Parts: sequence; structure tokens; C-alpha cells
Amino acid sequence: MSTEKIVIIGSGPAGLTAAIYAARAALQPLMFEGFSAGGLIPGGQLMYTTEVENYPGFPDGVTGPKMMMAFRAQAERFGTRFIREDVSDIDLTSRPFKIKSADNSVEAHAVIIATGARANWLGLDNEQRLAQSGGGVSACAVCDGAMPAYRNQELVVIGGGDSAIEEASYLTKFASKVHLIHRRDELRASKAMQERFFKLVEEGKMAPVWDSVVVDVLGDDSITGVRLENVKTKEQSDLPCKGMFLAIGHTPNTELFNGALDLDDKGYIKLPSPGSTYTSVEGVFAAGDVADHVYRQAVTASGTGCMAAIDAERWLAAAGIE
Ligand code: NDP
Repeated sequence: MSTEKIVIIGSGPAGLTAAIYAARAALQPLMFEGFSAGGLIPGGQLMYTTEVENYPGFPDGVTGPKMMMAFRAQAERFGTRFIREDVSDIDLTSRPFKIKSADNSVEAHAVIIATGARANWLGLDNEQRLAQSGGGVSACAVCDGAMPAYRNQELVVIGGGDSAIEEASYLTKFASKVHLIHRRDELRASKAMQERFFKLVEEGKMAPVWDSVVVDVLGDDSITGVRLENVKTKEQSDLPCKGMFLAIGHTPNTELFNGALDLDDKGYIKLPSPGSTYTSVEGVFAAGDVADHVYRQAVTASGTGCMAAIDAERWLAAAGIE
């Protein structure tokens, strides 16, 4: 069994940025880039994104998969080694830490966790098909909402929490109208967000559809509307739209760390020292969406990946592990 200075778990922008920094710091990082855990493939959520237009440095945009392949090539160039497997077991109770996958067992002095989070979906067949083909279904309005196809069109956002209001407000900059579909007649969002929402409703930019759920997504190559069901009356109706944005929460990929690290009530890894990536266990660092339910952007994930590598490098040096 090899003993590594640093093992990185997860290969989205957080993990790969951490790998670039750790490799350049001569820490020879070993990355478990995952295989299918959490429904994600190596490269993470961006592998399911078509055009990325908000990552600095790509004035003409870039596809998510192309961007992640470039991140990976850069990490590899500086000596990152990759294992294309999911971690199946991790022991953080003794040092060095022990990490296992189906075919590998390694020890590590420091670990960076960058396993990400997955957007929650409704689970409808057409939803998945149109999300994967770039047909107007997305779980990230900030990532996809500014596309020309959505300009001056009617769009729908599903959810009643802070994310739903934030994403719907963002979309009002482009759309002719945004319909917010919520399964109750009361928002979960904070008071400030609710105020923002009702102001936009007054201005005619937003329209609530209360007590309703989407039971089907309409359209062949791209979305043409959604079929709604009123949860109280069971009545169904079709609402035409050119885009559907899910904002019904995310699930962090932290099942592996239950009981091993402090997690918040939604399962995200707690970072007890603000402005750092230290977790509740010394020598274990977290970066990206696995510890961030607010920003959830590729660029913020990259930023915290960089922080985690620098935190780990300094921690290893202070611990005398060269
Ligand atoms: P939340 O869990 O707060 O809200 C999810 C919403 O989706 C709820 O309204 C819920 O309905 C609805 N929902 C869940 N499942 C389904 C389903 N299957 N079908 C239809 N509707 C569904 O998630 P958010 O992503 O909004 O927020 C996560 C956390 O991040 C919160 O703590 C939030 O405050 C924070 N946040 C803060 C922001 C800020 O301060 N700027 C911005 C974004 C997020 P119901 O209400 O009936 O349960």
C-alpha cells in the first residue's frame, strides 16, 4: 500500500484545480477521479453542461466537457496521477488516513475532498433527455440563462426556496416573463427574497403558479412547454415556455463522510474556520460544492480548490511531512 502526501477525491473544477496547485508544489497528488458515484462521471457536473459562458478566459464560451478535459490535462502535465474509481471507504480516525476503492488501497497524510453536489431533478424522462441535449432544461440559471435562445421568451423556474427566487430574478433580465412553479402556496425563501419576488410580480416580470407540480416536459428537440398538475384540484394544464430551470435543491456527495467529518443539517461539509478549507479533522480539506450551497459556480469551486491545495501544502509543511 502506498503512502501519499496528498490524495484528492473528486475531479470537477475544485479537485482538478487543487491537483494543479498541489502538483506544482511538488506534492505528487494522487486523485480518485470517480467513476459513477453520486450519478456523476469524472469531470463532475460540468460534464453535463453544454456551453459555459461565464468562466473567465473563454470569450467565445467553451463546452463543459472540453473545459474539464483541459483542466485534467493541466493537472496531469504537472504530475498528478489519476485513479478512475469511486472511493468506497475512507478511515479518517488514524494517521495516515486510509482510502479504498474497488481495486486500490492507499494511505494519505492529507486529503482534499472535492466530491461536489448533485442538483435534484424531478425524475421525468423528457426532463433528463432535454437537459442532456441542451434542449432548454437546466438546473443552473446562472450558467445557462443568458443564452440567446431564452431572450424575450417565457421561462419557468421550479421551486420555492432562495435558489428559485434568485434564479428566477436573474432570468427576468432576459425573459419576457418568468413563471415560478411551486408545489405549495407559500414560499420557503427568506423574507428578503420574498420581497424581491413580490416586487417582480407587481412589475409583471414574474408570475407565480401556486400549488402546482410539473408532471411532463413537452417538446421533441427543445422544450415547448410544461404540463402542470394542481396538487389540490388534480387539474392538469399546459404552460408554453422556452426554458425550464430546476431549483429544487442540491444533494452534496458526502455519504462517504457521514460520521467521519462534521456536516451541516443538509449534509454539506462544515468549514469551521471562515476563509479557509479546513474541515473538522486536521489534515482533511474540502473544496467546491461539497462545502458550498450558496455560490456553486465553476469559478468559485476552482478558487476553493486552489485554497485547499495551499492549505494542505502549509499544513503538511508545518507537520514536517516533506
Ligand atoms: P431549499 O431546500 O431551500 O428549497 C428547495 C425548494 O424546492 C423548496 O421550495 C421545495 O418545496 C422545492 N422542492 C423540493 N423538492 C421538490 C420537488 N420534488 N418538486 C417540487 N418542488 C420541490 O433549496 P435552495 O437551493 O433554494 O437553498 C439551499 C440553501 O441555500 C438554503 O439554506 C438557502 O437559504 C441557501 N441559499 C441562499 C442564497 C442567498 O442567500 N443568496 C441563494 C441560494 C440558496 P417546499 O418548500 O414545499 O419544501
